[in-house]
Amino acid sequence: MLRSLHLLGFGVVSPFLLQGKPRSLFALPLIAAFSKSGGLSSPQAALLPVSGCRSGGGYFRAFRMSSGASETSAHADVASGLAVVPPVAHKPNISFCQACGNPTKDVVPEGEEKIRAVCTVCGRIHYENPKMVVGCLVEHNDKILLCKRKIEPSYGLWTLPAGYLEIGESAAEGAVRETLEEACAEVEIVSPFAQLDIPCIGQSYIIFRARLKTPYFSPGPESLECALFALDDIPFDSLAFSSIIVTLKMYIEDKNAGNLKFHYCTINKRPGASPSDPHGFDLDYHLH
Ligand SMILES: [Zn+2]
Repeated sequence: MLRSLHLLGFGVVSPFLLQGKPRSLFALPLIAAFSKSGGLSSPQAALLPVSGCRSGGGYFRAFRMSSGASETSAHADVASGLAVVPPVAHKPNISFCQACGNPTKDVVPEGEEKIRAVCTVCGRIHYENPKMVVGCLVEHNDKILLCKRKIEPSYGLWTLPAGYLEIGESAAEGAVRETLEEACAEVEIVSPFAQLDIPCIGQSYIIFRARLKTPYFSPGPESLECALFALDDIPFDSLAFSSIIVTLKMYIEDKNAGNLKFHYCTINKRPGASPSDPHGFDLDYHLH
């Protein structure tokens, strides 16, 4: 889908934009180009805030990209992240073999390129892969269901009902289960809304739009409270995670435009930002 993305260009990008002060995520003219291999042929970056962000701190680095391909109308807000940022060098954090319990050693196994935790006795190689987080954007009477976290991290901050996918369930099933666990709400899935990859922490989110089967919810054991928020009242200064901030921003933009779409994004921690700052991120890649 990205093979044919190319420069549309609204003109020259001013130094002002490149210094990070434009006012809308989706208002930025096109700046960069993709080669046929999908790489940025003209990597540049602009820092820009998400429109409507109340905190003033949620700057996304993004480019507005449009597809020149006739076979698709998809387009992407893209920055340097996808093509030019090298993968995070992951150091294994497994100390003992999960098969025999003996110590592991961090080595590059023969025929591989990455450091793995390898058992010093049985030789088992322990692969660590990203975790999938699934959750629901529960819509009810033009409001969205949020849960205030009763657990760390981000105790006391608001989030969408979401959690780790379990083996044996589909992403949709996991999202429904998490919503039942965290908000005691029975929901049915409406459609997938977003996939958000966070490579630096090895997580990938899938968020579904969902509706309440019955107009009932209450805080589960991991929630202090649950509440429906009108889109104008979403507490962006008190949201728990960058993924939730991004999801809600995209949802509000779509609702305001009267066109709900599926979004694919990558989120990376902004250099120098505190790991605990949910606004300290860049939206490095955005296809919808
Ligand atoms: Zn072993």
